[in-house]
Amino acid sequence: MATSKPAIAPMKVALVPRPGADFQVVEREIPLPGARQVRIHVRACGVCHSDVLTKEGLLPSISYPRVPGHEVVGVIDEVGAGVQDWKKGERVGVGWHGQQDGTCPSCRRGDFVTCANLKITGVGFDGGYQQYMVAPVEALARVPETLDPVEAAPLMCAGITTFNALRRSDALPGDLVAIQGVGGLGHLGIQFANKFGYRVAAIGRGEENAPLAKKLGAHVYVDSVATNVSAALQKLGGARVILATAPSGKAMSALIDGLGPNGTLLVVGAGPDPIEVLPGQLLFGKKRIQGWSAGLPSDSEDTLRFADMTGVRPMIETYPLEKAAEAYARMMSGKAQFRVVLTI
Ligand SMILES: [Zn+2]
Ligand SMILES: [Zn+2]
Repeated sequence: MATSKPAIAPMKVALVPRPGADFQVVEREIPLPGARQVRIHVRACGVCHSDVLTKEGLLPSISYPRVPGHEVVGVIDEVGAGVQDWKKGERVGVGWHGQQDGTCPSCRRGDFVTCANLKITGVGFDGGYQQYMVAPVEALARVPETLDPVEAAPLMCAGITTFNALRRSDALPGDLVAIQGVGGLGHLGIQFANKFGYRVAAIGRGEENAPLAKKLGAHVYVDSVATNVSAALQKLGGARVILATAPSGKAMSALIDGLGPNGTLLVVGAGPDPIEVLPGQLLFGKKRIQGWSAGLPSDSEDTLRFADMTGVRPMIETYPLEKAAEAYARMMSGKAQFRVVLTI
């Protein structure tokens, strides 16, 4: 008998070979999970704008080649040593929150989301642009069997971000909540806000977005091209919360005067330019600007369960894994309606 190690079937992987380089689709050996890790047979992975961090090497800590993807849904097909709480055959998702260190000051206070040494999926370790991925158990969320994996994938980042930001906000049922942007984040934000019982104002560019925004659950549509958005929101009584999803600091600055007393501008879109505000805009009426990013895998589970219960779903465009470069380019174009998902 030959003593060489058994042949391991290859799998397809879409990776970034070095910062700024084009995607490469290559074959790799199917990896084995280590201690407190599982291997996931990936079924779908969303393409998120934050994948630009890995594609362009915008964080100094990333080592290459690296496989992006933090909107992963699949099935556990192998478990590593010391894994008792997760079983083969379970459907799971992996989002932005990869693994907390468990030892930093935030973690010692139980605030894992703000872990100083958070490992981000697809950044700190290989993500879901591949047929099989290895994930630490800390990253895993259970995915209801009744959800389509392809529809569930965008809920692992775009979904949890909007769901969690809104549900942890001060807004109560009946309050005016504005969702800025009818796009990847915004089209989910409108749906969640409606299901939470808010009075929903969608803010979009151009009248042509009004029918869709209303179909998604907006009670009011404000066209930011034709209207002064802040004045329009004040006319409605002022917003308790404005969920700012469009990646533009300038556009967000124009929203601040639309806040009502004790209102919050909740920033979830990452724009390259500053948000500009005068102290007086915040002082009078005790208004604030707050950032928000995703949440824990347990929050993902809540997001998925809520979506399953209420019918909230992303609108998606699908591409096969082999066309990862095309899928990424489509996402970057800003023209996708609305989330791009790799089917694997
Ligand atoms: Zn930590
Ligand atoms: Zn994301």
